[in-house]
Amino acid sequence: MDRVIFHIDVNSAFLSWSALKIIASGGADIRDIPSVVSGDPSDRRSIITAKSIPAKKMGIATAQPLSAALRICPSLVVVPPDFEWYSECSRKFIAICRDYSPVLQQFSIDECFLDMTAFLQGAKPLDVAARLKDEIHSRLGFTVNVGVASNKLLAKMASDFTKPDRVHSLWDHEVETKMWPLPVRDLLYVGKKTEEKLLHYGITTIGHLARVNVGTLGSIIGHKASLTLHDYANGVDNSPVEVLSSEAKSYSVERTFRENVTDAKKMDRVLFDLSCTVAHRIRVDEVRAGSVSLFVKAADFSVKSRQCQMEQPTDTTAIILRYVRTLLPDIWNGSTPIRQAGITLGKLTHDDFYQLSLFEDPKMEYYRQWDEEYDRKALENGEDPRGKMRSKAAVKDTVPTTEHPSGESALRAAKEAVRKNPDLTFERKPLPDGTDCFILQDHTGKTVARHSVPGSKAKMPKVHLSPEEEEFRRMMSSQVEKASQKTAKRYDEYMKLREKAPDKK
Ligand SMILES: [Mg+2]
Repeated sequence: MDRVIFHIDVNSAFLSWSALKIIASGGADIRDIPSVVSGDPSDRRSIITAKSIPAKKMGIATAQPLSAALRICPSLVVVPPDFEWYSECSRKFIAICRDYSPVLQQFSIDECFLDMTAFLQGAKPLDVAARLKDEIHSRLGFTVNVGVASNKLLAKMASDFTKPDRVHSLWDHEVETKMWPLPVRDLLYVGKKTEEKLLHYGITTIGHLARVNVGTLGSIIGHKASLTLHDYANGVDNSPVEVLSSEAKSYSVERTFRENVTDAKKMDRVLFDLSCTVAHRIRVDEVRAGSVSLFVKAADFSVKSRQCQMEQPTDTTAIILRYVRTLLPDIWNGSTPIRQAGITLGKLTHDDFYQLSLFEDPKMEYYRQWDEEYDRKALENGEDPRGKMRSKAAVKDTVPTTEHPSGESALRAAKEAVRKNPDLTFERKPLPDGTDCFILQDHTGKTVARHSVPGSKAKMPKVHLSPEEEEFRRMMSSQVEKASQKTAKRYDEYMKLREKAPDKK
């Protein structure tokens, strides 16, 4: 039997949600004027997170720097994000969707899939979709698009057709007329680099991509990516709507201080330490977190906590820290003595069908590299992510032997990554110092990791790092140093104890 899948997507979610709050407090509807939500409105280097339709019409785009948007429209209304409020809107939105089908997969803060196959009760799918859309609008005050199809990919493609407040179908027999004429870049997983490669070979539309021989396609974009994209272009996707059982699971880390923390700088350092530790743990377990919460316990043992949903599931330290920092001012005035603090990551996912970030932040590559470095050092140092001591033999197993300058170890690491995640491909790049670097890429041709001989110089894209980010990097490397010294010391102590042990044979 054919499946019926809905993809529900809130129209300019952050902007609509902020608008509701502003209207509730007597303000104007920012959806009707050129307006944007942007990380830090006072910093012109901030990136646009969401834009109103009038702003879009002026050429303002998501992920654009705020300074560029202000050049286009000097009177642009800039609103800071309010993640706690967004989480609340998201929860209500998901709750209504869940009433229509319990087979629900939350895809991001403002999107979910519903498997409606067994829950239509004889009604027409498009009628049910329209009812769901209208119910969300009338009860919550914001609009959504609903895509209706026989699988997740097509449902997602359909919800992206004309906006806002629309229901679109993309049944299998409509693929040829509704999806094939679209430019290749509109296909899920076709990023900038893949698009460039395809255009270079004259493949301009999804329909054209669908008819290219897979072998030929493989020689253009790599074998694995070619299989997936060829399927997608033909509207084929068999992945189920995954009801996450891991939702209840979470990762926590907390710290009790020898002396109460009473100043903001120290507290920021604490948040940094906690973020490093907990992000490392989820990376080791290969999951990403969709929510983060922070608690502080004051000297009088009163506890305050806040949580928020992150826009995209993540395992990146810098991003987790960014969210944690936004939570702190709500629960701490910057001077009350604090004896304990902790972070919990929840809403875990290992779904591969996750949205490629709208925020093609070029800094992501740096963040990933710092995390990679951190993880490598932490494992080399024999520090089990759960803080337990590992045996020397186990440590040895995790440390790749490196034979400079052949690049053998880097090649092995790249191969291992592809074995773990078959959706990746890698290519070899010679570096100026004669060693090789292996660059891992996902479907879209986006670099997800680099493996090179330790000490060699890999070329990174040029990006401007803010002073905070430079500070973050500095802290991260000193953190690794500190951890390694501490672990080495503990390891020595442990070995000494073992030698002294009377029962030693
Ligand atoms: Mg949306």
